[in-house]
Amino acid sequence: MLKYIAFFLLIAQACLAQELVYTVALHSTQTHTVQVIVELKKMGAKTVSYQMPIWAPGAYSVTHYGHYVTDFKAFDAKGKELAVTQANGDRWEISEAKNIAKISYLIGDSHKDSTSLYFALAHIDTNFFFANGTCLFGYVNDKKNIPAKVIYSFPDTWHIATALDPVSLDTASSLKSRPDWDEVPYFMATYKAKNYDELVDAPVMADTGLQIRSFNDGSASYDIVLASQKKFEMDSLEEYIHKIVHAETDFFHDTPFKHYTFLVYAPTYFNSPALGQGALEHANSSDYLLVNLPWKTFKTFGPEIFSHEFFHLWNVKRIHSSLLGPFDYTKRVMTTSLWLSEGITDYYAHTLLTRYGIMPYRTFEQMVKNLSALMNQAEAARSETLEQLSIDESDFALDKATIFYSKGTLVGLLLDIEIRSRTNNKKSLDDVMLALNDDAKKGITFKDSELIGKMEKITGLDLQNFYHKYIAGTDDLPLDEYLAKMGVGDTVNSNFSKMEAESTSNPDGSISIAGTFLHDLLPTSDKETLKDRAQWTFYRIQSEGTMIGDTIEVGDTLKTVNGEPFTVDKLGEIGKNFKRPVSYELEVVSPSLNKTGSESNAISPSAPLTVRRKHIKLVYDVQDTPKHTPKYAPLPNATPLQVAIRHGIVGMDY
Ligand SMILES: [Zn+2]
Repeated sequence: MLKYIAFFLLIAQACLAQELVYTVALHSTQTHTVQVIVELKKMGAKTVSYQMPIWAPGAYSVTHYGHYVTDFKAFDAKGKELAVTQANGDRWEISEAKNIAKISYLIGDSHKDSTSLYFALAHIDTNFFFANGTCLFGYVNDKKNIPAKVIYSFPDTWHIATALDPVSLDTASSLKSRPDWDEVPYFMATYKAKNYDELVDAPVMADTGLQIRSFNDGSASYDIVLASQKKFEMDSLEEYIHKIVHAETDFFHDTPFKHYTFLVYAPTYFNSPALGQGALEHANSSDYLLVNLPWKTFKTFGPEIFSHEFFHLWNVKRIHSSLLGPFDYTKRVMTTSLWLSEGITDYYAHTLLTRYGIMPYRTFEQMVKNLSALMNQAEAARSETLEQLSIDESDFALDKATIFYSKGTLVGLLLDIEIRSRTNNKKSLDDVMLALNDDAKKGITFKDSELIGKMEKITGLDLQNFYHKYIAGTDDLPLDEYLAKMGVGDTVNSNFSKMEAESTSNPDGSISIAGTFLHDLLPTSDKETLKDRAQWTFYRIQSEGTMIGDTIEVGDTLKTVNGEPFTVDKLGEIGKNFKRPVSYELEVVSPSLNKTGSESNAISPSAPLTVRRKHIKLVYDVQDTPKHTPKYAPLPNATPLQVAIRHGIVGMDY
């Protein structure tokens, strides 16, 4: 009898099995739109709703993805159009929908919108396509557990990459029968997702010339898929990414996936669609916008970004607050836990690179120096707690959000030192992360209010004081005091750091400064893209306080570099020919009210301005840059415990 019941239940389930088939047609990307067709089977409801998400996991900002949808239509099995009402900017309702068979809409390009960051939006262009899943897909009747098939249909000259499990790749011939499309040959790549969360967690990138590398490590395989207008140094990229995945899967003793995809859009400097760079994490993939620069320059910032996103696949994609999954895509997230998800992730992103010998010890010194400077510049780091900043994340205020990657990272460092120093280095933040991951594997999330209590239980310490000061409070971080506990401090009374900031001006007018030319020149408006600008005008000076910051003024225009007329498209070439030491003579034209100037030019119709020319000689003596920033060097007289803590955090090999 029991057997029969089971049999009938199976039959019943098979009959009711629902599936959604989403087809994304990249057929006219030159119009900066893609068409999405949703085929619905057995929805069996009188009214059908279609909901686009208002935010994307990982990006958190309230974006309203429905705002990029146009031409929303619904049809029954006979092709008859059904009545649709738009309930709000992100939701549609279809009445008389018992025989609904298909929904169709267009998605517009959004990558320059100020509602979110590039990698949480959609970039749709003639020869390039990138989209976060939240840009493309909605869910039906508020059900997020329906399995989905996704068909990407694209011209046969394109290649496509996404992290979903592939089902098939059909050639052009099988497509001819599709009625709504023209006769251009298209490929159809079919993927599957077990539910809506998985579907929108897989970004997609397509291009006519993807650069691809694949490798295996442990039980998993990895793809690096990169799009760029020029060749990228894929050998070096693969080498570093391989080291990073090896280090972090070793750290967690866990590889909770079979396949992982790194999707990288690496435009040349000239083609960069945004001035910022960055990335977004997903469960089995991550996507990046990083400028294609010579490897030597790329290496100074690239590895920590890959390290950060890869660490997220445990910390936030699996270890997370109950408010961060299962997701409610219709309400802004109100979690206070992003100091763990972002700050602690960033702490490990940096320190695991040194701990596993991928980057030298001095990158740790540099990190502490850079991040404490960034933290001190951030107003909200003093006025708002990390928990409040976590709540604010949905507002998409970049100046606040970036505090997780300065103060949040340093709080991670302090918390690890706190645990290690109070337990004689028997316990560490590593134990916390591993225990939280064990919970996550059992499907256990944490309530925000329980997080510190969990850490106390794992470490056996009372962490209330630390928590109330630096996480739920705005006390200044006693960085030097904590660093001393890991045997790190000021070894010499050196003037190195002062020298860097003061950069003495030589009698012949030349200036010696440390740093890179590119970094010092990477200024200007957030809103414009480089492509839009015919000439290089300084809208904002990045390096205020250094000589270049004091010499070049906002509004100045760069005319020549070493006697050659400067155009924006040459910017990428400058860093490439970096030699040590390197000298640049810049001629800068400055509109100013200096009436005694020699050349006049009407810059503004109301006030004819005089133009001053400035000749600036920049000498980059890279060899003069100290190998160690003495303030954060290993102390020679450190105690064995301090040395053990330091080795535990940044490794032995320096
Ligand atoms: Zn992150």
